[in-house]
Amino acid sequence: MPDQDDLFLFNPLPRPVLKVVGSDKLFPVHRIYCVGRNYADHAIEMGHDPHREAPFFFQKNPDCLVTDGRDFPYPSATNDVHFEMEMVVALGKGGADISLEYALDHVFGYAVGLDMTRRDLQGEAKKLGRPWEVGKAFEFSAPCSAIVPASSIGHPASGAVWLKVNGTERQRGDLAQLIWKVPETIAYLSTLFTLQPGDLIYTGTPAGVGAIQRGDEMHGGVAGIGEIRVRVS
Ligand code: MN
Repeated sequence: MPDQDDLFLFNPLPRPVLKVVGSDKLFPVHRIYCVGRNYADHAIEMGHDPHREAPFFFQKNPDCLVTDGRDFPYPSATNDVHFEMEMVVALGKGGADISLEYALDHVFGYAVGLDMTRRDLQGEAKKLGRPWEVGKAFEFSAPCSAIVPASSIGHPASGAVWLKVNGTERQRGDLAQLIWKVPETIAYLSTLFTLQPGDLIYTGTPAGVGAIQRGDEMHGGVAGIGEIRVRVS
């Protein structure tokens, strides 16, 4: 077995991880999938028809995660950075073509996260029919809490999703309003990609998205799962 120093040209970056509530073990993150327009009132505020079309997805990179209460540094190349408060599903088992019936068996637990978005760059990409990465997958764009295992909280299908900025409530929805429920999202996503243990799914945001500025404090949560507090620096 060769020494690691002999295998690589340079040191590989450490794998992004999330903490797990009630455990010393870390959750190693594989991919981050995000569901677009999964609450009707948010689809409407973004100018879209809220009817139940097939779900669509984009990805962030695992190293976009911001963990352990660290700051969100205001990103480059934008004047319009939006918060999107979301429930995050953490998969403990992978697979392709996962059936609806067994979809929840693949869930290790749940977390709460922010899908930070350079809305101006995303808007331009939409208009030009270009990919969304510059709007969605930039550094520090995925603040996320520790994971709470489903073995302790079950699989929440209702409960408030809320976000305050500097103490003022800006978003409030309920998991019950999700257009595509968690089992449906997992089943559908697994027809497009082979899911792996360590994948995260940001499940979409309710209405009320808006811009933040340096110095703001975002404080949000999902009832029954947890809370997250992130300062914009
Ligand atoms: Mn989102």
